[in-house]
Amino acid sequence: MQAIVFDSPGRLATREMPEPSLLHASDAIVDIQLAAIGGTDRHFIDDPHAGLTPGTIVGREAVGLVRETGRDVRNLSGGDRVVICPAIACGNCVYCRAGYHAQCNATDAGRQASGPALFGAPETLGGLPGLCAERARVPYAHTTLVRLPDEISNAEAVMLADIWSSAWFTAHLAEIRQGDTVAVFGCGPLGQATVACALLRGASRVFAVDRHEDRLARARALGAEVIHSGEESPVAVLRDLTDGIGVDRAIDAAGSDLSATAGSDTQQTACPDGSAEQPRQSVQLWAMDALAKAGTLALTGLWSGPGASVPIALAVARNLTIRAGFCHYRIYLPKVIELCLAGRIDVSAIPLHTEPMANAAEAYQQLDQHQRPWSKLAFQPAPTEQPAARTDTTSNTNTKADADAAAESAQLDDALEDSFPASDPPSIARPGDH
Ligand SMILES: [Zn+2]
Repeated sequence: MQAIVFDSPGRLATREMPEPSLLHASDAIVDIQLAAIGGTDRHFIDDPHAGLTPGTIVGREAVGLVRETGRDVRNLSGGDRVVICPAIACGNCVYCRAGYHAQCNATDAGRQASGPALFGAPETLGGLPGLCAERARVPYAHTTLVRLPDEISNAEAVMLADIWSSAWFTAHLAEIRQGDTVAVFGCGPLGQATVACALLRGASRVFAVDRHEDRLARARALGAEVIHSGEESPVAVLRDLTDGIGVDRAIDAAGSDLSATAGSDTQQTACPDGSAEQPRQSVQLWAMDALAKAGTLALTGLWSGPGASVPIALAVARNLTIRAGFCHYRIYLPKVIELCLAGRIDVSAIPLHTEPMANAAEAYQQLDQHQRPWSKLAFQPAPTEQPAARTDTTSNTNTKADADAAAESAQLDDALEDSFPASDPPSIARPGDH
């Protein structure tokens, strides 16, 4: 089968790879119809220290049709159209049962609590082959696959898989409540979606910080008040615009694309302590320093390299709350599917560019070197399987919603319900008992 693999730092290649097969009773094989490259993948591909093995199939966001299931997969059958959670989870362990799928004991086994097992990742993150391929093996398919309603297009499903589910999770993580003032640092696809989710959760003001005009323009279109971190100090501007109080919630959505938020040419002047910090540290210091007293800092996305410097003294002095983690896709992906169906999130606000899988090497270089104005890049194994146009689907969704307002209302209530699991369910106190 054809697949897109990591060739060398910053480079992809399209190659013939062995067909996947069922290895365990809870596996499924999925025929991929559309797969995308996200910020986490770009970190694995571009960072020579990320540890990705050359020849690894890349990609964590995909939609497709179930081709084959193991005997323990009882909720899916051949032909079902599914979106794949970017991280796998067993659904059985104490963490999965508490809603902490990103901390699944089964997929973390032997890796010393190093995070969830991801598709297309280095050995330290599970080492599973990725999803940019004609077919993929999906472990724990009963939990890792989410069946899609017909109204959601393939393009929408790919955007919901990681970006929108992570954004909705991050808005929960940041404890955003009605009336809050929020700052989102980093306006890549995740930051843009987080702006929309923060507003949906009732934030009255959302600031967006980045140093690229095109990203700031998209954030502004989504309702954010924008701050150009290449031209002004985000902390000073945020203080100034909030009567010196600061923001209630700060979110680090910079991900691996740190240069977009805190480039090396700005960090020394804009960093609160004036030191030559790494860009990631600059973003976190900004976020901490921009917070009002008793505010909340939310940290998500992939971390690597030298340890970041979160100023603990500042957190204590201001009674700040720091919350961190990976998205629990099994909880949040179905929620954003409901929000999309109800017309409450406009997935088309963040454009997706699709290329044939055969063009992967060239397309990735163009994306990486900012030669094209693409926010998000997806690949299609077969040109005949063109996903439905998003605009058509949105129209159909609205028509359906208009025709059944009561059902939509109930659906939205469910979707908006705070689904973040309790902070310390009693069962987690003794994970070794399970
Ligand atoms: Zn588990």
